[in-house]
Amino acid sequence: MSEFASEPSGAAAGGSGGLSANAYPLGLRLAGLRVVVVGGGAVATRRVPALLDAGADVLLVAPDLTPALRAHVDAGRLHWVSRRFAADDLDGAWLVQVAIDDPTAAATVSAAAAERRIFCVRADDRNAATAWTPAVTRYGPVTVAVLGGGDPRRAVSVRDAIRALLVSDSAGPGEPLDAPAGGGDRRGRVALVGAGPGDPELITLRGWRLLSEADVVVADRLVPGLLLDELRTGVELVDASKIPYGPSRTQEEINRILVDRALAGAFVVRLKGGDPYVFGRGGEELLACAAAGVPVTVVPGVTSSIAAPAAAGIPVTHRSVAHEFTVVSGHVAPESPDSLVRWEALAGLRGTLVILMGLKNLPSIASTLLAHGRAPGTPAAVIQEATTGGQRIVRSTLGEVTDAVTAAGLRPPAVVVVGDVVEVLGSAGLT
Ligand code: SAH
Repeated sequence: MSEFASEPSGAAAGGSGGLSANAYPLGLRLAGLRVVVVGGGAVATRRVPALLDAGADVLLVAPDLTPALRAHVDAGRLHWVSRRFAADDLDGAWLVQVAIDDPTAAATVSAAAAERRIFCVRADDRNAATAWTPAVTRYGPVTVAVLGGGDPRRAVSVRDAIRALLVSDSAGPGEPLDAPAGGGDRRGRVALVGAGPGDPELITLRGWRLLSEADVVVADRLVPGLLLDELRTGVELVDASKIPYGPSRTQEEINRILVDRALAGAFVVRLKGGDPYVFGRGGEELLACAAAGVPVTVVPGVTSSIAAPAAAGIPVTHRSVAHEFTVVSGHVAPESPDSLVRWEALAGLRGTLVILMGLKNLPSIASTLLAHGRAPGTPAAVIQEATTGGQRIVRSTLGEVTDAVTAAGLRPPAVVVVGDVVEVLGSAGLT
Protein backbone atom coordinates (compact mmCIF):
# COMPACT_ATOMS: atom_id res chain seq x y z
CA MET A 1 0.00 0.00 0.00
CA SER A 2 1.41 3.31 -1.00
CA GLU A 3 -0.38 4.81 2.03
CA PHE A 4 2.13 3.12 4.24
CA ALA A 5 5.04 4.36 2.27
CA SER A 6 5.23 7.56 4.24
CA GLU A 7 5.00 5.77 7.58
CA PRO A 8 8.07 5.63 9.77
CA SER A 9 11.10 3.75 8.69
CA GLY A 10 14.63 3.37 9.81
CA ALA A 11 15.52 1.82 6.52
CA ALA A 12 17.35 4.95 5.49
CA ALA A 13 20.53 3.69 7.12
CA GLY A 14 23.21 4.38 4.55
CA GLY A 15 20.40 5.18 2.14
CA SER A 16 20.14 7.79 -0.52
CA GLY A 17 21.11 11.33 0.17
CA GLY A 18 23.34 10.32 3.06
CA LEU A 19 20.48 10.41 5.55
CA SER A 20 21.41 9.04 8.94
CA ALA A 21 19.74 6.00 10.42
CA ASN A 22 18.12 7.71 13.36
CA ALA A 23 15.32 10.19 12.97
CA TYR A 24 15.23 13.18 15.25
CA PRO A 25 11.68 13.54 16.64
CA LEU A 26 10.06 16.96 16.72
CA GLY A 27 6.62 18.40 17.35
CA LEU A 28 6.02 20.97 14.65
CA ARG A 29 3.97 24.00 15.66
CA LEU A 30 2.46 24.82 12.32
CA ALA A 31 -0.22 27.36 13.26
CA GLY A 32 -0.39 29.93 10.48
CA LEU A 33 2.62 28.45 8.66
CA ARG A 34 2.45 27.42 5.02
CA VAL A 35 2.50 23.69 4.34
CA VAL A 36 2.34 22.52 0.74
CA VAL A 37 0.64 19.21 -0.05
CA VAL A 38 1.32 17.90 -3.54
CA GLY A 39 -1.31 15.44 -4.72
CA GLY A 40 -5.09 15.22 -4.31
CA GLY A 41 -5.71 11.50 -3.82
CA ALA A 42 -6.13 9.09 -0.94
CA VAL A 43 -2.82 9.87 0.77
CA ALA A 44 -3.44 13.61 0.75
CA THR A 45 -6.96 12.99 2.02
CA ARG A 46 -5.48 11.19 5.02
CA ARG A 47 -2.73 13.73 5.68
CA VAL A 48 -4.61 17.02 5.34
CA PRO A 49 -6.91 16.79 8.41
CA ALA A 50 -4.02 16.65 10.90
CA LEU A 51 -2.34 19.59 9.18
CA LEU A 52 -5.56 21.59 9.44
CA ASP A 53 -5.92 20.49 13.05
CA ALA A 54 -2.46 21.92 13.69
CA GLY A 55 -3.62 25.22 12.23
CA ALA A 56 -1.34 25.03 9.19
CA ASP A 57 -1.93 27.27 6.19
CA VAL A 58 -2.33 24.43 3.69
CA LEU A 59 -1.71 24.87 -0.02
CA LEU A 60 -2.88 21.89 -2.02
CA VAL A 61 -1.35 21.46 -5.46
CA ALA A 62 -3.15 18.89 -7.63
CA PRO A 63 -5.10 18.82 -10.88
CA ASP A 64 -7.86 16.73 -9.28
CA LEU A 65 -9.15 16.24 -5.74
CA THR A 66 -11.05 13.56 -3.88
CA PRO A 67 -14.53 14.66 -2.76
CA ALA A 68 -13.29 14.91 0.84
CA LEU A 69 -10.50 17.29 -0.16
CA ARG A 70 -12.87 19.28 -2.31
CA ALA A 71 -15.11 19.69 0.74
CA HIS A 72 -12.18 21.28 2.62
CA VAL A 73 -11.66 23.64 -0.31
CA ASP A 74 -15.36 24.52 -0.50
CA ALA A 75 -15.39 25.23 3.23
CA GLY A 76 -12.46 27.59 2.81
CA ARG A 77 -10.15 25.57 5.05
CA LEU A 78 -7.28 25.44 2.55
CA HIS A 79 -6.04 26.88 -0.72
CA TRP A 80 -6.04 24.80 -3.86
CA VAL A 81 -4.17 25.33 -7.11
CA SER A 82 -5.63 23.09 -9.76
CA ARG A 83 -2.57 21.99 -11.74
CA ARG A 84 0.65 20.06 -11.46
CA PHE A 85 3.44 21.17 -9.14
CA ALA A 86 5.71 24.11 -9.99
CA ALA A 87 8.80 24.94 -7.94
CA ASP A 88 7.58 28.35 -6.82
CA ASP A 89 4.57 26.70 -5.12
CA LEU A 90 7.09 26.24 -2.32
CA ASP A 91 7.62 29.97 -1.83
CA GLY A 92 7.13 30.74 1.85
CA ALA A 93 6.57 27.08 2.80
CA TRP A 94 7.96 25.44 5.94
CA LEU A 95 7.10 21.87 5.07
CA VAL A 96 6.02 19.91 2.02
CA GLN A 97 4.17 16.63 1.85
CA VAL A 98 4.45 14.76 -1.41
CA ALA A 99 1.38 12.59 -1.80
CA ILE A 100 1.75 11.36 -5.38
CA ASP A 101 2.81 8.01 -6.81
CA ASP A 102 4.86 9.19 -9.78
CA PRO A 103 8.51 8.93 -8.60
CA THR A 104 9.85 11.35 -11.18
CA ALA A 105 7.35 14.06 -10.29
CA ALA A 106 7.94 13.39 -6.59
CA ALA A 107 11.71 13.69 -7.06
CA THR A 108 11.17 17.09 -8.68
CA VAL A 109 9.32 18.28 -5.58
CA SER A 110 12.03 16.82 -3.32
CA ALA A 111 14.74 18.62 -5.25
CA ALA A 112 12.90 21.96 -5.13
CA ALA A 113 12.34 21.50 -1.39
CA ALA A 114 15.99 20.63 -0.70
CA GLU A 115 17.13 23.67 -2.62
CA ARG A 116 14.97 25.85 -0.37
CA ARG A 117 15.83 23.95 2.85
CA ILE A 118 12.24 22.82 3.33
CA PHE A 119 11.61 19.45 4.95
CA CYS A 120 9.92 17.04 2.58
CA VAL A 121 7.76 14.02 3.41
CA ARG A 122 7.50 11.48 0.60
CA ALA A 123 4.55 9.10 0.33
CA ASP A 124 6.16 7.22 -2.53
CA ASP A 125 9.67 6.68 -1.16
CA ARG A 126 10.55 7.04 2.49
CA ASN A 127 14.26 6.72 1.76
CA ALA A 128 14.11 9.82 -0.38
CA ALA A 129 12.33 11.86 2.29
CA THR A 130 13.90 14.36 4.68
CA ALA A 131 11.05 13.89 7.18
CA TRP A 132 8.85 10.98 8.18
CA THR A 133 5.30 11.06 9.46
CA PRO A 134 4.93 8.85 12.53
CA ALA A 135 1.97 6.70 13.53
CA VAL A 136 -0.01 8.96 15.83
CA THR A 137 -2.61 8.68 18.56
CA ARG A 138 -4.18 11.58 20.38
CA TYR A 139 -5.56 11.37 23.87
CA GLY A 140 -6.92 14.65 25.12
CA PRO A 141 -4.02 17.11 24.89
CA VAL A 142 -1.42 14.35 24.66
CA THR A 143 -0.09 13.31 21.25
CA VAL A 144 1.91 10.11 20.95
CA ALA A 145 3.95 9.71 17.77
CA VAL A 146 5.68 6.41 16.98
CA LEU A 147 8.49 5.84 14.51
CA GLY A 148 8.80 2.15 13.82
CA GLY A 149 12.47 1.76 13.02
CA GLY A 150 11.87 0.75 9.43
CA ASP A 151 8.67 -1.20 9.90
CA PRO A 152 5.47 0.85 9.49
CA ARG A 153 3.33 -2.00 10.75
CA ARG A 154 5.36 -2.17 13.94
CA ALA A 155 4.84 1.57 14.41
CA VAL A 156 1.11 1.12 14.04
CA SER A 157 0.91 -1.80 16.45
CA VAL A 158 3.06 -0.03 19.07
CA ARG A 159 0.85 3.03 18.64
CA ASP A 160 -2.28 0.89 19.13
CA ALA A 161 -0.84 -0.67 22.27
CA ILE A 162 -0.03 2.76 23.71
CA ARG A 163 -3.51 3.99 22.86
CA ALA A 164 -5.05 1.05 24.72
CA LEU A 165 -2.82 1.76 27.71
CA LEU A 166 -3.74 5.45 27.76
CA VAL A 167 -7.42 4.71 27.58
CA SER A 168 -7.35 2.00 30.25
CA ASP A 169 -5.54 3.42 33.21
CA SER A 170 -2.69 5.80 32.69
CA ALA A 171 -4.40 8.81 34.28
CA GLY A 172 -3.77 8.46 37.97
CA PRO A 173 -5.60 10.57 40.53
CA GLY A 174 -4.49 14.18 40.49
CA GLU A 175 -2.87 13.94 37.09
CA PRO A 176 -5.66 14.10 34.58
CA LEU A 177 -4.53 14.04 30.98
CA ASP A 178 -7.55 16.16 30.23
CA ALA A 179 -6.66 18.96 32.64
CA PRO A 180 -6.08 22.38 31.17
CA ALA A 181 -2.40 23.14 30.74
CA GLY A 182 -0.79 25.57 33.13
CA GLY A 183 -1.18 23.78 36.47
CA GLY A 184 -3.11 25.12 39.41
CA ASP A 185 -5.99 23.43 41.20
CA ARG A 186 -8.30 23.08 38.26
CA ARG A 187 -9.26 19.48 38.63
CA GLY A 188 -12.57 20.12 40.37
CA ARG A 189 -15.13 19.89 37.62
CA VAL A 190 -18.02 17.89 36.25
CA ALA A 191 -18.58 16.13 32.94
CA LEU A 192 -22.14 15.21 31.96
CA VAL A 193 -21.54 12.17 29.81
CA GLY A 194 -24.06 10.32 27.66
CA ALA A 195 -23.47 6.60 28.11
CA GLY A 196 -25.55 5.52 25.11
CA PRO A 197 -28.58 3.26 25.08
CA GLY A 198 -27.20 0.14 26.75
CA ASP A 199 -24.52 -1.61 24.73
CA PRO A 200 -21.26 -0.50 26.38
CA GLU A 201 -19.68 -0.06 22.94
CA LEU A 202 -22.14 2.71 22.14
CA ILE A 203 -20.55 5.29 24.43
CA THR A 204 -18.51 7.93 22.57
CA LEU A 205 -14.69 7.88 22.58
CA ARG A 206 -14.61 11.10 24.58
CA GLY A 207 -17.14 9.80 27.08
CA TRP A 208 -15.08 6.66 27.56
CA ARG A 209 -11.87 8.61 28.02
CA LEU A 210 -13.37 10.95 30.61
CA LEU A 211 -14.86 7.98 32.43
CA SER A 212 -11.42 6.43 32.67
CA GLU A 213 -10.10 9.65 34.23
CA ALA A 214 -12.88 10.20 36.77
CA ASP A 215 -12.39 10.35 40.55
CA VAL A 216 -16.13 10.09 41.16
CA VAL A 217 -18.76 8.55 38.89
CA VAL A 218 -22.42 9.28 39.51
CA ALA A 219 -24.32 6.77 37.42
CA ASP A 220 -27.95 6.35 36.40
CA ARG A 221 -29.91 3.15 36.57
CA LEU A 222 -29.96 2.82 32.78
CA VAL A 223 -26.20 3.11 32.39
CA PRO A 224 -24.49 0.00 30.97
CA GLY A 225 -23.09 -1.94 33.90
CA LEU A 226 -20.07 -3.10 31.93
CA LEU A 227 -18.81 0.47 31.66
CA LEU A 228 -18.71 0.67 35.43
CA ASP A 229 -16.90 -2.62 35.58
CA GLU A 230 -13.95 -1.03 33.81
CA LEU A 231 -13.46 1.90 36.18
CA ARG A 232 -10.08 2.47 37.81
CA THR A 233 -9.71 1.12 41.30
CA GLY A 234 -10.29 3.77 43.90
CA VAL A 235 -13.01 5.56 41.96
CA GLU A 236 -15.98 6.49 44.09
CA LEU A 237 -19.12 5.15 42.43
CA VAL A 238 -22.39 6.81 43.40
CA ASP A 239 -25.48 4.92 42.23
CA ALA A 240 -27.97 7.71 41.59
CA SER A 241 -30.87 5.28 41.46
CA LYS A 242 -30.22 4.27 45.08
CA ILE A 243 -30.41 7.79 46.44
CA PRO A 244 -33.54 7.90 48.62
CA TYR A 245 -36.27 10.64 48.60
CA GLY A 246 -38.81 11.36 45.88
CA PRO A 247 -38.01 12.42 42.30
CA SER A 248 -37.37 16.10 42.99
CA ARG A 249 -35.46 15.63 46.24
CA THR A 250 -33.40 12.96 44.55
CA GLN A 251 -32.43 15.37 41.79
CA GLU A 252 -31.46 17.99 44.39
CA GLU A 253 -29.37 15.40 46.15
CA ILE A 254 -27.62 14.41 42.90
CA ASN A 255 -26.92 18.08 42.15
CA ARG A 256 -25.52 18.49 45.62
CA ILE A 257 -23.21 15.48 45.25
CA LEU A 258 -21.91 16.75 41.89
CA VAL A 259 -21.21 20.23 43.25
CA ASP A 260 -19.73 19.12 46.60
CA ARG A 261 -17.35 16.59 45.10
CA ALA A 262 -16.20 19.01 42.40
CA LEU A 263 -15.65 21.81 44.90
CA ALA A 264 -13.56 19.38 46.94
CA GLY A 265 -11.31 19.02 43.88
CA ALA A 266 -12.63 15.84 42.32
CA PHE A 267 -13.21 15.20 38.64
CA VAL A 268 -16.82 14.03 38.63
CA VAL A 269 -18.37 12.17 35.72
CA ARG A 270 -22.15 12.21 35.72
CA LEU A 271 -22.92 9.22 33.55
CA LYS A 272 -26.39 9.26 32.07
CA GLY A 273 -28.31 6.83 29.86
CA GLY A 274 -28.55 7.75 26.19
CA ASP A 275 -27.96 11.48 25.68
CA PRO A 276 -27.75 13.71 28.76
CA TYR A 277 -30.22 16.24 27.39
CA VAL A 278 -32.94 13.89 26.10
CA PHE A 279 -35.35 13.59 29.03
CA GLY A 280 -32.27 13.26 31.20
CA ARG A 281 -32.39 16.37 33.39
CA GLY A 282 -28.88 17.20 32.21
CA GLY A 283 -29.83 20.85 31.91
CA GLU A 284 -30.79 21.03 35.58
CA GLU A 285 -27.48 19.50 36.61
CA LEU A 286 -25.58 21.90 34.39
CA LEU A 287 -27.41 24.89 35.93
CA ALA A 288 -26.72 23.64 39.47
CA CYS A 289 -23.01 23.33 38.72
CA ALA A 290 -22.89 26.70 36.98
CA ALA A 291 -24.59 28.35 39.95
CA ALA A 292 -21.88 26.94 42.22
CA GLY A 293 -19.09 28.05 39.86
CA VAL A 294 -18.17 24.47 38.92
CA PRO A 295 -16.95 24.06 35.31
CA VAL A 296 -18.99 21.58 33.30
CA THR A 297 -18.39 19.76 30.02
CA VAL A 298 -21.21 17.99 28.23
CA VAL A 299 -20.51 14.91 26.12
CA PRO A 300 -23.48 13.97 23.93
CA GLY A 301 -24.58 10.37 23.78
CA VAL A 302 -26.32 8.00 21.40
CA THR A 303 -29.94 8.43 22.39
CA SER A 304 -32.32 5.48 22.74
CA SER A 305 -34.90 7.49 20.79
CA ILE A 306 -32.90 6.77 17.65
CA ALA A 307 -30.84 3.74 18.68
CA ALA A 308 -33.73 1.62 19.94
CA PRO A 309 -35.64 1.86 16.64
CA ALA A 310 -32.36 1.20 14.79
CA ALA A 311 -31.74 -1.89 16.90
CA ALA A 312 -35.15 -3.14 15.78
CA GLY A 313 -34.35 -2.51 12.13
CA ILE A 314 -36.35 0.72 11.99
CA PRO A 315 -34.81 3.87 10.50
CA VAL A 316 -36.48 6.92 12.06
CA THR A 317 -36.53 8.60 8.63
CA HIS A 318 -36.62 7.08 5.16
CA ARG A 319 -36.73 8.80 1.82
CA SER A 320 -40.30 9.20 0.52
CA VAL A 321 -41.69 7.54 3.67
CA ALA A 322 -40.99 9.88 6.60
CA HIS A 323 -39.37 13.29 6.45
CA GLU A 324 -39.68 13.98 10.15
CA PHE A 325 -39.38 12.25 13.46
CA THR A 326 -40.77 13.59 16.69
CA VAL A 327 -39.53 12.43 20.08
CA VAL A 328 -42.04 12.73 22.91
CA SER A 329 -42.12 11.81 26.55
CA GLY A 330 -45.08 9.65 27.51
CA HIS A 331 -44.34 10.07 31.19
CA VAL A 332 -47.33 12.36 31.72
CA ALA A 333 -50.65 10.97 30.50
CA PRO A 334 -52.28 12.89 27.59
CA GLU A 335 -55.36 13.68 29.66
CA SER A 336 -53.35 15.03 32.59
CA PRO A 337 -53.48 18.78 33.19
CA ASP A 338 -49.69 18.63 33.62
CA SER A 339 -49.16 17.45 30.02
CA LEU A 340 -47.09 19.83 27.91
CA VAL A 341 -47.58 17.74 24.76
CA ARG A 342 -50.27 18.53 22.20
CA TRP A 343 -51.11 14.93 21.41
CA GLU A 344 -53.97 15.94 19.12
CA ALA A 345 -51.46 17.85 16.99
CA LEU A 346 -49.07 14.88 16.95
CA ALA A 347 -51.97 12.71 15.74
CA GLY A 348 -52.11 14.90 12.64
CA LEU A 349 -48.45 14.36 11.70
CA ARG A 350 -47.56 11.92 8.94
CA GLY A 351 -44.04 11.10 10.02
CA THR A 352 -42.43 9.01 12.73
CA LEU A 353 -43.44 9.38 16.36
CA VAL A 354 -40.99 8.07 18.98
CA ILE A 355 -42.31 7.84 22.51
CA LEU A 356 -40.02 7.41 25.51
CA MET A 357 -41.24 6.48 28.98
CA GLY A 358 -44.55 5.64 27.35
CA LEU A 359 -45.32 2.09 28.40
CA LYS A 360 -47.50 2.85 31.42
CA ASN A 361 -49.58 5.41 29.55
CA LEU A 362 -49.60 3.51 26.24
CA PRO A 363 -53.36 2.76 26.33
CA SER A 364 -54.30 6.42 26.64
CA ILE A 365 -51.53 7.59 24.27
CA ALA A 366 -52.69 5.19 21.55
CA SER A 367 -56.35 6.03 21.99
CA THR A 368 -55.65 9.77 21.96
CA LEU A 369 -53.69 9.46 18.71
CA LEU A 370 -56.50 7.34 17.18
CA ALA A 371 -59.20 9.72 18.41
CA HIS A 372 -57.47 12.61 16.67
CA GLY A 373 -57.08 10.94 13.35
CA ARG A 374 -53.98 8.76 13.15
CA ALA A 375 -54.99 5.61 11.29
CA PRO A 376 -55.39 2.43 13.36
CA GLY A 377 -53.45 0.48 10.73
CA THR A 378 -50.34 2.66 11.19
CA PRO A 379 -47.42 0.33 11.91
CA ALA A 380 -46.12 0.51 15.48
CA ALA A 381 -43.32 -1.24 17.35
CA VAL A 382 -42.14 -1.38 20.93
CA ILE A 383 -38.52 -2.10 21.77
CA GLN A 384 -37.58 -3.09 25.30
CA GLU A 385 -34.00 -2.84 26.61
CA ALA A 386 -32.65 -2.05 23.17
CA THR A 387 -29.02 -2.91 22.36
CA THR A 388 -28.68 -5.11 25.46
CA GLY A 389 -28.97 -8.84 26.04
CA GLY A 390 -32.54 -8.24 27.25
CA GLN A 391 -33.73 -6.68 24.02
CA ARG A 392 -37.27 -7.60 22.97
CA ILE A 393 -39.26 -6.28 20.04
CA VAL A 394 -43.01 -6.28 19.48
CA ARG A 395 -44.40 -5.23 16.10
CA SER A 396 -48.02 -4.31 15.70
CA THR A 397 -50.27 -1.45 14.61
CA LEU A 398 -51.39 1.63 16.45
CA GLY A 399 -54.84 0.07 16.90
CA GLU A 400 -53.50 -3.10 18.50
CA VAL A 401 -50.20 -2.16 20.06
CA THR A 402 -51.55 -1.83 23.60
CA ASP A 403 -52.89 -5.38 23.61
CA ALA A 404 -49.77 -6.69 21.93
CA VAL A 405 -47.52 -5.17 24.59
CA THR A 406 -49.67 -6.60 27.39
CA ALA A 407 -49.74 -10.02 25.76
CA ALA A 408 -45.96 -10.01 25.36
CA GLY A 409 -45.43 -8.76 28.91
CA LEU A 410 -43.03 -6.00 27.89
CA ARG A 411 -41.51 -3.91 30.67
CA PRO A 412 -39.71 -0.56 30.82
CA PRO A 413 -37.34 0.72 29.64
CA ALA A 414 -38.96 0.65 26.24
CA VAL A 415 -39.32 2.89 23.22
CA VAL A 416 -42.53 3.04 21.20
CA VAL A 417 -42.26 3.88 17.48
CA VAL A 418 -45.29 4.77 15.39
CA GLY A 419 -45.19 5.30 11.64
CA ASP A 420 -44.65 3.70 8.26
CA VAL A 421 -40.91 3.47 8.87
CA VAL A 422 -41.61 0.52 11.18
CA GLU A 423 -42.19 -1.66 8.12
CA VAL A 424 -39.92 -0.04 5.62
CA LEU A 425 -36.86 -2.30 5.88
CA GLY A 426 -38.69 -5.50 6.74
CA SER A 427 -36.39 -8.17 8.08
CA ALA A 428 -33.47 -6.74 6.09
CA GLY A 429 -33.09 -4.02 8.74
CA LEU A 430 -32.18 -6.60 11.34
CA THR A 431 -29.13 -8.05 9.65
N1 SAH B 1 -31.53 10.20 28.00
C1 SAH B 1 -32.09 8.93 27.59
C2 SAH B 1 -33.58 8.84 27.87
C3 SAH B 1 -33.91 8.95 29.34
S1 SAH B 1 -35.61 8.77 29.67
C4 SAH B 1 -31.78 8.72 26.10
O1 SAH B 1 -31.35 9.65 25.41
O2 SAH B 1 -31.94 7.58 25.65
C5 SAH B 1 -35.70 7.01 29.95
C6 SAH B 1 -36.44 6.34 28.81
O3 SAH B 1 -35.57 6.15 27.72
C7 SAH B 1 -36.96 4.96 29.13
O4 SAH B 1 -38.17 5.00 29.82
C8 SAH B 1 -37.12 4.40 27.75
O5 SAH B 1 -38.29 4.92 27.14
C9 SAH B 1 -35.94 4.98 27.03
N2 SAH B 1 -34.80 4.07 27.03
C10 SAH B 1 -33.57 4.31 27.50
N3 SAH B 1 -32.75 3.28 27.24
C11 SAH B 1 -33.47 2.38 26.57
C12 SAH B 1 -33.20 1.11 25.99
N4 SAH B 1 -31.99 0.55 26.06
N5 SAH B 1 -34.19 0.45 25.36
C13 SAH B 1 -35.41 0.99 25.26
N6 SAH B 1 -35.74 2.18 25.79
C14 SAH B 1 -34.78 2.88 26.42
